[in-house]
Amino acid sequence: MKYIIALDQGTTSSRALLINEVGKLIDVKQKEFKQIFPKQGWVEHDPIEILNTQLEVFEELISTISLSDIISIGITNQRETTVIWDKETGKPLYNAIVWQDKRTSGICDQMKKDGLESYTRENTGLVIDSYFSATKIKWIIENVEGVKTKINENKVLFGTIDTWLIYNMTSFKNHVTDYTNASRTMIYNIKNLEWDDKLCDYLKIPKSILPEVINSSSDFGNFNYNGFEIPIHGVAGDQQAALFGQSCFEDGMVKNTYGTGCFLLMNTGKNFKLSENGLITTLACTFDDKVNYALEGSVFIAGAAIQWLRDSLKVIGKASETEKIAQSIEKLHDIYVVPAFAGLGAPYWDMYSRGAIFGLTRDTGVDHIIKATLESLAYQTKDIIDVMEKDSGIKLKSLKVDGGACMNNYLMQFQSDLLDCEVLRPEIIETTAMGAGYLAGLQSNIWDKDQIIKNQKIDRSFNPTINDSEREKMYRGWKKAVNRTFNWIEK
Ligand code: ADP
Repeated sequence: MKYIIALDQGTTSSRALLINEVGKLIDVKQKEFKQIFPKQGWVEHDPIEILNTQLEVFEELISTISLSDIISIGITNQRETTVIWDKETGKPLYNAIVWQDKRTSGICDQMKKDGLESYTRENTGLVIDSYFSATKIKWIIENVEGVKTKINENKVLFGTIDTWLIYNMTSFKNHVTDYTNASRTMIYNIKNLEWDDKLCDYLKIPKSILPEVINSSSDFGNFNYNGFEIPIHGVAGDQQAALFGQSCFEDGMVKNTYGTGCFLLMNTGKNFKLSENGLITTLACTFDDKVNYALEGSVFIAGAAIQWLRDSLKVIGKASETEKIAQSIEKLHDIYVVPAFAGLGAPYWDMYSRGAIFGLTRDTGVDHIIKATLESLAYQTKDIIDVMEKDSGIKLKSLKVDGGACMNNYLMQFQSDLLDCEVLRPEIIETTAMGAGYLAGLQSNIWDKDQIIKNQKIDRSFNPTINDSEREKMYRGWKKAVNRTFNWIEK
């Protein structure tokens, strides 16, 4: 048997997954690493620890197989996290600044004041935010001693985590990234597929430090390991890897990851489309001669609302208990929980909204509130999907799901009812790592697209069971509830 190895470099852990040549997941190894919080709102990782944990799990994983049986490696990674290092020594010049880090909010405000909002949206597909790499790169250049001097000596390189890993794994030979990761930097022009002159000039980011950008399924160089040269044949940022791993290859296909928050991506095909409702446009995995675009939206509080039931209200012991509780009571009538704990994102964008429960009557009990909280994940998902359909002009074909909360059968059935479409839960919910593995396997010519689709075994499909008028009434109630939370706290 031959194998593909997927390296999944996430925000809290590094993982390595062994996939055999018929696409079966065989084994997983995982190691957590340190989260560094130097100040309020700052989040860093040690790039060396990231590299070491990633290589350690790789070694553990392959201990039972022969190196010559490894066909290739695929990498998927936490997106936007920024590393700057010395080209010659390979030493990081600062810790990795993580996507969650807010230290550059001021630079973003200044960009907005300087009138760069619409240019940035129209050319990078993104809303100006500290989340993306651009302002993190600028911060390191301007605040870390010696970086500017080294840049003048042409000794500095920037990379997202994929690029950092590849540079090290190829013994400093290859400085590359793929389209999906480049599209999260906020300096990559996703229309003409080049590093953007205007934004690089404005932020004073020299192009000499930026990696080459190539297809997600291509030759990223060889990992020199114990005398073997193992090709790296696939790279994609985590959410795009999941979209690919769910084989959302056609226009209008959507995946939703139900984790702490929800991450929705819709493949919109070869056409660049901007959202009118605050979604972002990003590059999806590319494996032929034209890039694929996607619309992306997220729900801030999804599984986190279930954690709230468990940790703050203490009305459940485990997240999974919500399924039985929701199934054990009758359909809710006009009861809604709006978990706007941190304001509302797309499509409402109201930072002053706060959470609320609506429709209480004398006989409302804790179980009703638990059920309504669970249903809020589905309502928030519908809010985003409606906008995606409007923005793209494409009707949702089916919703592919993954993430911890997709194991909740009540939630998935309710989601299908609410969207009036099929909801598909795969057998292997490791879709992110599988996506990276598939990208590598495609380039190594062991699979083609059709085989990847065939390999997608469905654990369960959920189909709508309610009629239009019931569905519309439920959703009208949700909208009314959301509207009543607007502007709750004073500005
Ligand atoms: P993340 O990757 O964001 O940490 P996971 O994909 O591991 O998230 O999913 C965990 C989240 O999903 C938690 O917020 C948890 O409350 C929620 N969750 C997990 N299992 C269930 C379930 N069976 N029903 C509802 N929510 C669940």
